[in-house]
Amino acid sequence: MEFLDAPPQPHYFTPEHEQFRAGLRAFIAREITPFVDEWDEAETFPRALYERAAELGVQGLGYPEAYGGTPADLFHQLIVAEEFARCACGGVSASLNSHSIALPPILKAGSEAIRQRVIPPVLAGRRIAALAVTEPGGGSDVAHLRTRAVRDGDHYVVDGEKTFITSGMRADFITTAVRTDPSVPGAEGISVLVIDGDTPGLTRTALRKMGWWCSDTAHLRFDGCRVPVANLVGEEHRGFRVFMDNFNSERLFMAAQACGLAGVCLQEALDWTRQRQVAGSALSQRQVVRHKLMDMTVRIDAARALVYDLAWRIQHAQARPAQLVARACLAKVQATQALQFCADQAVQLLGGMGFMRGTKSERIYREVKVMMIGGGSEEVLKDLAARQLGV
Ligand SMILES: Cc1cc2nc3c(=O)[nH]c(=O)nc-3n(C[C@H](O)[C@H](O)[C@H](O)COP(=O)(O)OP(=O)(O)OC[C@H]3O[C@@H](n4cnc5c(N)ncnc54)[C@H](O)[C@@H]3O)c2cc1C
Repeated sequence: MEFLDAPPQPHYFTPEHEQFRAGLRAFIAREITPFVDEWDEAETFPRALYERAAELGVQGLGYPEAYGGTPADLFHQLIVAEEFARCACGGVSASLNSHSIALPPILKAGSEAIRQRVIPPVLAGRRIAALAVTEPGGGSDVAHLRTRAVRDGDHYVVDGEKTFITSGMRADFITTAVRTDPSVPGAEGISVLVIDGDTPGLTRTALRKMGWWCSDTAHLRFDGCRVPVANLVGEEHRGFRVFMDNFNSERLFMAAQACGLAGVCLQEALDWTRQRQVAGSALSQRQVVRHKLMDMTVRIDAARALVYDLAWRIQHAQARPAQLVARACLAKVQATQALQFCADQAVQLLGGMGFMRGTKSERIYREVKVMMIGGGSEEVLKDLAARQLGV
């Protein structure tokens, strides 16, 4: 039995979804999975992969055809998250999909000129986009970000720092949250600017990490960067809402990805314990081992059911927005907890081999923490969910 696969869910996934899944699965198995060990050790992957993924329609999924996109619904996005998890290397997916957090603010609030300049080349895989919100002074407390953009004629002059930015080294376009009105300390007074990667005064430093080695993660420093006013996305001082809306889909995507990665751990643990002999019988025949495998299975099933149900509700507007925001937060919390449990159990079941480079569970174990912190940490998401539910 393939534990990686959820039981068939025809009420969520149409034959067209399944066809898309099959194409993507074959692409990942052929062009990504065989190379992830090499890429992770090299702390990078070929830039050409963006164009390959774009040819398959992955980059443009859910974007309007006018910008080179392909119509798609939320379940297509879940398929992308799940299928990329199969390569057991979150770093590839993180960088390859950084546009999924960088472009939505531009699509939602950007002028037609900036949309036309940025979105088509990114969806075609010829250019790379990043989202820069987090600062060294704190990522959770987004409303108090300090990077300043001061108006000077038809430019803004940007000074400040951003950190932990995915695709930060390679990005051609950086969707950046800046403070344009320093007289207001909180969420008001924040704007969104697209900063071109070749802007003078921008310095980028690559960061080394516990996991996601092949993902490009950077510290960005802006020293007097002159950014045309035409690069403003949405209204000046009203940018907070523009990128906060982003976070819901990011959380749902990460929740689906966490379920997929947990499934990879389960599958590897199952395969290993079936073939590993202890005192004349397979490890998988020991009750304590079987219980671990079932504990993993039930956690994944529960988290995945929540993700699918939530995606359906969002797609069919079957709840108040505040409830959906709360549930997206909680789905990410539950799915990443399931991932943490499964990665831990899988490494334990693999014994010394689980500690060795080259097993999927070893890599995923090192990726658990970024899944529990990025896109909103567990503590912050629970707090946000409580507020949305009126607690
Ligand atoms: C590999 C990687 C890639 C990333 N990519 C991007 C990217 O592309 N773009 C981007 O903008 N950011 C990115 N981030 C940043 C990420 O979103 C932040 O790390 C995250 O939001 C947490 O912010 P922080 O690291 O500053 O931690 P802090 O906000 O300083 O939090 C530290 C700890 O305090 C807790 N905490 C914070 N506030 C509260 C509170 N009010 N109550 C209780 N506990 C609290 C947190 O839960 C956490 O445990 C990335 C991070 C990583 C690690």
